[in-house]
Amino acid sequence: MYTELANYGYYKVTTDSPEKYHELIQELADKLPHGSGINGNWHIKAYQYKNRIYLQAFNIYEAMNENGFYCHRYVIHPKFIYNPELTKVCEYCKGMKYRTYEEIAEKTGESWEHVKSRLLDDLRFIEYDDRTFVCNLCSGTGRTKIQKFELLPDRIVYGRELNCCGYGLEDYLGDTFACLD
Ligand SMILES: [Zn+2]
Repeated sequence: MYTELANYGYYKVTTDSPEKYHELIQELADKLPHGSGINGNWHIKAYQYKNRIYLQAFNIYEAMNENGFYCHRYVIHPKFIYNPELTKVCEYCKGMKYRTYEEIAEKTGESWEHVKSRLLDDLRFIEYDDRTFVCNLCSGTGRTKIQKFELLPDRIVYGRELNCCGYGLEDYLGDTFACLD
């Protein structure tokens, strides 16, 4: 049983998931692209797994060959995790807001003094004290921004890509769905 959540004339948004997810599904649908080869209806499934909500969106991608004609159609199914909070603890500094020169020295085999002199030549690295510097990923806030609908690293294109459709369809679509805003 499909529920039609929206009908824009040239495409529809449908789901077969429970009503409690309909608002969230519509919110994702509003952010999903349409056009440029993504020409069909969006069908979106939402479900809960281990206290997190996942959404998988289905559509058809019409690839063009090098002469600019549509050549093949692919089922695409980008999968997202819903992040109710828009930031997460910084992966680099684990929320500490600073990092240590030793941490990098351990990985590169340099002395920490050497790492320090090397990094401080780069303006992005701001020193806190003798042995630490402001985390360059979160700029010292301890948290980094995340997408409300974060694309998961699963495959997006169903089946094998054909050469005539151009290489890198998976990468191209990955970029398309990675930043929905
Ligand atoms: Zn950080």
